[in-house]
Amino acid sequence: MTTAIVLGGGFAGVLAAAVLARHGGDVLVAEGDRYPSGPLPRRGLPQARHSHVLVTGGARALEDLLPGTLEALYARGAHRRGLTGDALILSAEGWFGRHDTGAYLVSCTRALLDQVVRHRALAGGRVTVWQDARVLALTGDAARVTGVTISRAGGPPETVEADLVVDATGRRSKAPRWLAGLGVPEVAETVVSSGLAYATRLYRAPEGLAAGLPAIMIHPGAADGRPGQGATLFPVEDDRWVVTLTGTRGGEPPAREPGFTAFARRLRSPVVAVLMAAATPLGRVRPYRDTANRRRFFERTPLPEGFLAIGDAVVAVNPVYSHGMSIAALGALRLDRELTRHGGVKPSRTPELQAAVAEVADPSWRMAIGQDSRYAVRDDAPPAGTAAARSLLSRATLTSPELATRLFHAQTLIAPAPERERTP
Ligand SMILES: Cc1cc2nc3c(=O)[nH]c(=O)nc-3n(C[C@H](O)[C@H](O)[C@H](O)COP(=O)(O)OP(=O)(O)OC[C@H]3O[C@@H](n4cnc5c(N)ncnc54)[C@H](O)[C@@H]3O)c2cc1C
Repeated sequence: MTTAIVLGGGFAGVLAAAVLARHGGDVLVAEGDRYPSGPLPRRGLPQARHSHVLVTGGARALEDLLPGTLEALYARGAHRRGLTGDALILSAEGWFGRHDTGAYLVSCTRALLDQVVRHRALAGGRVTVWQDARVLALTGDAARVTGVTISRAGGPPETVEADLVVDATGRRSKAPRWLAGLGVPEVAETVVSSGLAYATRLYRAPEGLAAGLPAIMIHPGAADGRPGQGATLFPVEDDRWVVTLTGTRGGEPPAREPGFTAFARRLRSPVVAVLMAAATPLGRVRPYRDTANRRRFFERTPLPEGFLAIGDAVVAVNPVYSHGMSIAALGALRLDRELTRHGGVKPSRTPELQAAVAEVADPSWRMAIGQDSRYAVRDDAPPAGTAAARSLLSRATLTSPELATRLFHAQTLIAPAPERERTP
């Protein structure tokens, strides 16, 4: 029997664990953090305090992996907002018309999303979770990974053997360093940073305005002298709104009041500031700066058998594009299909699996670095003309339902029809 250990029990980790368990293995998830008892933020997931929406492609993948999850989320207060019919979107070129494009996003707190997904992914009894279990290193050699060393509850390192080790430790993954410790050549990495900073605050919605509010997105202007400044306001569960303000270097949103509100008032549209003024703040403003696009090219490395990386550990895009969780869900779905094709988990096939996972993330990566080329401090060049082409397309899509459909299908990672089995 194959045994697998998944490093990190975040969004990608629990989905990978569910997939591996379905293919007949015993699965252990080693999570360095402790899960909260309810839908609350936790230390190991600092980004969970910020807006998290699940775009259509990811929502569909999640539903394929764990049927009934979207209904479970809606039952707990998550909102579905059609793009652009249930949204107010001010692009660099103007307001989008309200079109029925078939694309949508699911909005709730990241804490609720994680709790619901984790509960469903780990149901079934084949997955064991160790919390407070920090992974320290990989064991084996450059040809074969045989397990990991882990410190449980701060105790001395212990070795856990496994046929398959899946790194899902997220954006700050140390897997390249761990692999180097086994003698594996360096994993190539590309970082493209727009320098975007986030500041987020939760609000209690005023009575009567909670459930029906559209999703609101104010994009940065093309040349308004306030580089990269924008805002989103999304309705979330329990009659709350989450407001995120964004800005690039020199135009970052303040991490406290009164600057936070003043920043919202100065944006290209005051709509978010007007709604904030009518709502009740809940908790303080939370800043976040680690937003660079980061890709680790594991698939170009001669990887040892028995090792695989997924989720943000492979491709972490600028969060402003709302793709990260969808990349994780689409990657887990692809893993599921590859394992079906291979007849189960075969550690010798992990390099192929790694290539498949990277392929799924590629469209998001290209879109993100193309867009960020406007502000980027980077160590490679995006395709020539990408930003200009995007701007032209964006202007035309404001009024054209056909173009809006194309754009929002691309932006929400809706796969071409033949690749889909179900389309909730
Ligand atoms: C500010 C912000 C906003 C975002 N907004 C969106 C959005 O709107 N939509 C969207 O789709 N995506 C969004 N994202 C991206 C999303 O958060 C990530 O893509 C997603 O969390 C990736 O899942 P993951 O499981 O790969 O990593 P994570 O969710 O980060 O999970 C990694 C897990 O590994 C654990 N871990 C780390 N190191 C160790 C170790 N050594 N040993 C054991 N466990 C370890 C951590 O505790 C954590 O549980 C946003 C990101 C940020 C930063």
